[in-house]
Amino acid sequence: MNVPNKVKHFAWKACRNILATKENLRRRNITKDSICEVCGKQEESTSHLFWFCDHAKEVWSSCKLSFPFEIQPSWDYMDVMWFLQKWEEARPGLLERIVMICWGIWKNRNEARHGGKQQSGQAVSRSSLRLKRAGVGVVIRDEEGQVIAVLYRKLHTQLGPLESKAKAMEVGVKFAREVGIRDVLFEGDSLVLNNAIHGLNEIDPSVQNVVR
Ligand SMILES: [Zn+2]
Repeated sequence: MNVPNKVKHFAWKACRNILATKENLRRRNITKDSICEVCGKQEESTSHLFWFCDHAKEVWSSCKLSFPFEIQPSWDYMDVMWFLQKWEEARPGLLERIVMICWGIWKNRNEARHGGKQQSGQAVSRSSLRLKRAGVGVVIRDEEGQVIAVLYRKLHTQLGPLESKAKAMEVGVKFAREVGIRDVLFEGDSLVLNNAIHGLNEIDPSVQNVVR
């Protein structure tokens, strides 16, 4: 899995404990108050923000990633990364997924501080894990199944599962036109989308979790 550069940069700052958490700002005498604004109970340290705040706990329980060890309040972010590294072989990809979710927590925390909405735990974990799959692949084959053309395009917006499939179909149609293929068959596994394209029904967002 590829971690985007902005997430790598975030992780580097978290490991060096130089993120502008309220605790770090107080230490540098920039602010006096260091209480977490989400729970109002404890200092907003890196460890509180990512692991021990009620909101962080909600994020971790909603994404159903199980940690192979128990994080201790005295640990730095770096300690957590170090332990995760040791588990990389047994639980491949876990470290990256956890870093992506931490980045989501940090992003949401900053948005909420600047007047944005505090997202639910589930919304934070979903949108941060979705970031890694923000791209569509299109493969064009001839009638014998031979690959004629391949395209991979990154998507810059975050889309839900159904919207991603619709976008992939749009990219596919445009790509076929670009390479000059007119007689073409599109395959898709979404009944909702296929019906919508054929004008059989309206897209009803409540159906998307049932029919994929
Ligand atoms: Zn808190």
